[in-house]
Amino acid sequence: LSKITNLWPSSLSSPGYIPLSGERDVKKVPFVETFNTRLQGVISSASDIARVYVAYFDTRTLNYCCSTNNNRPCGGLRGYPCNHLRELLHEAVIQYGINHVRQFLQLPSEAQTENDILQRCGQQSHTYNVSDIFSRFLGDLELLELPTLNTPLTVMAWFNT
Ligand SMILES: [Zn+2]
Repeated sequence: LSKITNLWPSSLSSPGYIPLSGERDVKKVPFVETFNTRLQGVISSASDIARVYVAYFDTRTLNYCCSTNNNRPCGGLRGYPCNHLRELLHEAVIQYGINHVRQFLQLPSEAQTENDILQRCGQQSHTYNVSDIFSRFLGDLELLELPTLNTPLTVMAWFNT
């Protein structure tokens, strides 16, 4: 994994990115996406550079899950979303905007802030098999090794200056 994390800083200077409204922190949350019925992503460990967490929120119910990429449950889950899930949501709002996130999660228009969304969270899911999410993250990373193009890659929109 250290080989992967070494890719992040140099990739940030690549031309061809699509400007975003906010500042995504790709070191803290290297991967976030809205996919099928989940807002999901990969979050770096605050204490161990070699460890990452994979987390998601289900649409509609807002049931949530966080585990290591080795399918070990996150110790920060104590009946409410852990810091990784909060960071994931925060970065999703920067990347997509609060309106898109709310609509994707199928929440009522009263949910106007990240806290509003967190307060509507459902139950902790005990399905820790998050390898499909991690695979999508690795697939995304492979794009970093493509030669530099002059046209933007839409899947790279989460990169920022
Ligand atoms: Zn966690």
